[in-house]
Amino acid sequence: MRILKGIAVSDGVAVGPAFVYRVQEAAGAGPDRRAATGEAARAAFAEAVEAVRDGLRALRERAAAAAGSEEAAIFDAHLLMLEDPLLAEEVERRLREGRPLGAAVEEAIDALAAMLAALDDPYMRQRAADVRDVGAQLLRAIRGAAAGAAFEGLARPSVVVAEDLTPSDTVSLPREYVRAIVTEAGGPTSHTAILARAMGVPAVVGAGAGLLDLAEGRLLAVDAREGVVYIDPDEATLERLAQAQRAEAGAAARRAALRALPAETVDGFRVELAANLGHPAEADAAVAQGAEGVGLFRTEFLFLDRAEPPTEDEQAAAYREVLERMGARPVIFRTLDVGGDKPLPFLPVEAEANPFLGYRAIRLLLDRPEIFQTQLRALMRAALGRLTERGEPQARIMFPMVATLDDVRACRRAFEEAWRAVAGSGDRDVERSRPLFGIMVEIPAAALMMDVLAREIDFASIGTNDLTQYTLAVDRTNPRVAARADTLDPAIVRLMHRAIAACREAGTWVGVCGEAGGDPAAIPFFVAAGVDELSMSPGRLPAAKERVRSLDRRELARRLEAALQAGTAEEVRRIFDVGSA
Ligand code: PEP
Ligand code: MG
Repeated sequence: MRILKGIAVSDGVAVGPAFVYRVQEAAGAGPDRRAATGEAARAAFAEAVEAVRDGLRALRERAAAAAGSEEAAIFDAHLLMLEDPLLAEEVERRLREGRPLGAAVEEAIDALAAMLAALDDPYMRQRAADVRDVGAQLLRAIRGAAAGAAFEGLARPSVVVAEDLTPSDTVSLPREYVRAIVTEAGGPTSHTAILARAMGVPAVVGAGAGLLDLAEGRLLAVDAREGVVYIDPDEATLERLAQAQRAEAGAAARRAALRALPAETVDGFRVELAANLGHPAEADAAVAQGAEGVGLFRTEFLFLDRAEPPTEDEQAAAYREVLERMGARPVIFRTLDVGGDKPLPFLPVEAEANPFLGYRAIRLLLDRPEIFQTQLRALMRAALGRLTERGEPQARIMFPMVATLDDVRACRRAFEEAWRAVAGSGDRDVERSRPLFGIMVEIPAAALMMDVLAREIDFASIGTNDLTQYTLAVDRTNPRVAARADTLDPAIVRLMHRAIAACREAGTWVGVCGEAGGDPAAIPFFVAAGVDELSMSPGRLPAAKERVRSLDRRELARRLEAALQAGTAEEVRRIFDVGSA
């Protein structure tokens, strides 16, 4: 038995024979135009773009039908990349220099991918793989080759092993035969990860070079709870994993039975369970998993990978789509959260030594009112006339990286200016749908000042990812210190407790939208502290509901007292270890 360690990106356990996937190609579907130059090259490039565009549209349709909207959205991103003027410019520049078409496209793709790969943000770095995927399709079209039937040999339930999977690979994947996915490369935000979570199959990525040769024809056992892959597992391992599989199947059935019940503790304390989304297409899956609303809609997707900012109309259409797909459920939109670590081509920010402490989010947008106001107006236009079932405004607007009361007031002024522009003097019906005004509590200063800030806002949501990073001084993108970033550290528990208590005192609605909001170990703390809502990745909702329903707040009060006196994260975890969910 050999054991490989990778990154767990989609929970679960599976055993099966390895199916090793290698990219193949069928040759000779059309003329090879790689050597073309000048006008002939331009015409061939335009034809190749056209062919790839048709192909991507078809893939998007198939993905939407087979896997759901989250995966289909990947192809929208690919279409944007294909049509990116920067790509056309990079190719054109090389053609003008007399380069043949094949080399011009290859070099242009390399340049764009290298640009993305050099960025600090891991999400953007992984988009380099998308550029290469689109580039490979373009080159294939130029070469006159057709894509091969790469998964032809996959005809029985298997563990799919690959270097990495591109979105176009995964559409042709016969899902009924995929027990698990293991890749040599890739990270938590790679497409393999997104796909695996969408399919609900266990996945381990980044298991290391050489995996493809090692795994050929072998039996594999995948424990994606731990990120471990066993090659030729022994009997004891197989028995342990079989037990885990039985337990998982039982848990899934139990959770499905709770689908129609509220997230309510034994003693009747009700928590709203909401989803964190990053694209309108993800809304349907969230509702299917039982989301009662959206606790965090990250709006960055509209702004990334493009040379010009999106127009007000384009933004309003996207925000409206989210509101419509969510029915009459409440949706919290977060304004653009970019800056030094996530630069945008149309919003250049100088490189900074400490981008997480730098010029980002509202700090940047308050200086760029044309972009800020356009987004706020688009959000408000989408919100006009839309109410929840309870007759409250359906849309809520949340500002990230708020540190001080001055920040709150500056955001409030921007908010009011946009509302005046959209609603005018406004009749009563329009005024009823006026979005609620809220802030993210993700900077310790804001958490400490919550009693003061709470008086000037409609709601708050705790961003535990950044709050943890800033409180413990642990860079969330640095793997060397990642293990120190524990949201259940007593310092953060005290800080969150203080902020939640201040909101409750002021009668201000408070939710949680960082990763800890969906963590079964942290949920007892949030329920004990009395949050109104927990927002998380949609896939975590069923387990979170089961967790909430197993708790008794009267009993948790004692544990909360103890946790506020605890000295280590381990003690806090032990205190809130209230049976398994
Ligand atoms: C957070 O900081 O906890 C959060 C939810 O926002 P993001 O992860 O997008 O920074
Ligand atoms: Mg944040």
